[in-house]
Amino acid sequence: MSVKDRNGYEDLVKTIKSCTRCPLHASRKNAVPGEGPLDAEVMVVGEAPGRSEDEQGRPFVGAAGKLLDRLLGEAGLERGRVYITNIVKCRPPNNRDPKPEEIQACLPYLIEQIKTIRPKVIIAVGRIAGSTLYKLAGLRWEGVRRERGRIVRARIGGVDVVIVPTYHPAAALYNPQLRGELEEDFKGPVKRAVREAGRGRKPPTLEDFME
Ligand code: SF4
Repeated sequence: MSVKDRNGYEDLVKTIKSCTRCPLHASRKNAVPGEGPLDAEVMVVGEAPGRSEDEQGRPFVGAAGKLLDRLLGEAGLERGRVYITNIVKCRPPNNRDPKPEEIQACLPYLIEQIKTIRPKVIIAVGRIAGSTLYKLAGLRWEGVRRERGRIVRARIGGVDVVIVPTYHPAAALYNPQLRGELEEDFKGPVKRAVREAGRGRKPPTLEDFME
């Protein structure tokens, strides 16, 4: 990573922290730009900051964050090696879904992060993250139940990545069945995508097995 890119990233973080592009700025305590190494091969993208994240200005630090750390471990990853962010950088009131216009206003920041970090694998946790990333890549989203665990090649902001969609850890906290499926996704497809990306190969997708 060049000094220019690093300076550009620091400017981006400052811009996000003082951003007023959508109404979510009015109720936030802290914007949550994201965190992790700028040369991370793996990026986790969630939906939006929750209460703990809003208070601390850091992504995935509440109960869902603890579960995410454990899931990353199941895939052979340490949190410190992964860049973690969200589709929108400010907490929606009462943790409601971000509105389409809020997502639209915030997306340039995520695209800039992807262009800077150039991850090989993006783990999209939850419906909002998965559907938004698919849309950015011009792919058709068929719902998180159908898409979860797929390894999908995509190009976002000129960067070739594979997206692995799965559930949001917050949804699995009190739902043992979802939690089991989430663990399967991290132990299986996520781990496979990361391993293949680390070898400089494109991970096989479902289509490869159908050719
Ligand atoms: S959610 Fe995004 S666009 Fe809206 S105020 Fe926060 S940083 Fe700006």
